[in-house]
Amino acid sequence: MRVRQIAVAAAAAALALTAAGCGSDTEAPGGSEAKSVLQKAKESKKLVIGVKFDQPALGLKKPDGTVEGFDVDVAKYVAKELGVPESGVEFKETTSANREAFIQSGQVDLVFATYSITDERKQKVTFGGPYYVAHQDTLVRADDNSIKKAQDLKDKKLCKAAGSNSYKRVIDPPPDGQLDIDATPVDASSYSECVAKLKNKALDAVTTDDLILAGFANQQKGTFKVVSDPFSDEKYGVGMKKGDTETCNAVNAAVTKMFEDGTAKTLLEKHFDGTGLKLDFEVPKAEGCA
Ligand code: GLU
Repeated sequence: MRVRQIAVAAAAAALALTAAGCGSDTEAPGGSEAKSVLQKAKESKKLVIGVKFDQPALGLKKPDGTVEGFDVDVAKYVAKELGVPESGVEFKETTSANREAFIQSGQVDLVFATYSITDERKQKVTFGGPYYVAHQDTLVRADDNSIKKAQDLKDKKLCKAAGSNSYKRVIDPPPDGQLDIDATPVDASSYSECVAKLKNKALDAVTTDDLILAGFANQQKGTFKVVSDPFSDEKYGVGMKKGDTETCNAVNAAVTKMFEDGTAKTLLEKHFDGTGLKLDFEVPKAEGCA
């Protein structure tokens, strides 16, 4: 009698789990559900990873077709932990504006592209990480002494890179924005376009993550300066399809390992030493995969 009661209870529990959708993605009858990225990685030894192609020190495509930078190296490390060697990783360009769409449509499996974790984006994608916490700052021409801090951006022409959060943090009030400063936005499709427009005086300042600004300032030495008035925490997440918790947990384990074995420090120094940026080598607090 007791055995039968346990069996009934177990069956009921299993039914409840199925009804609640708590089973794995892959256990759907007929195998119609998509596999998790982790499972795909393990089986095929391949991953398509979205990175920036135009951001020096983070994700930059070189003339020989290869892509280099901190995001690219972190992606390679995480891919290896998921069972995919470097030769199995295909890097695909993602811009600030198409990151969510590329993940949702399956054009990329994962995104490592200076991709801040935000509540708005969490509605559409799941984030592993963060693997770094950047802070927003301001880039101006080297000979411009009229902008020394973020508050000086009032009435200045400020770059608005499509799909990016940064301009909002300056122009809008909280909760989405931060500083609520009356600057004039000037449209651009990317941060490389922002920087080109800053150089030819089509705008006065570029506001975004200190890592991005340090990369551009270092690439064109003497042309620009970072004002060093940081604000906001930009938690760099690894974007993936919403609900892919299995992959998210594996990514988080890889990120923790990357800090614990010293690789994160090595990679940060490799790409940002000499830029004047103060680097943080502590593993960032995980965001959780929910
Ligand atoms: N991290 C910020 C963001 O995700 C700015 C950089 C970017 O757009 O890639 O919006």
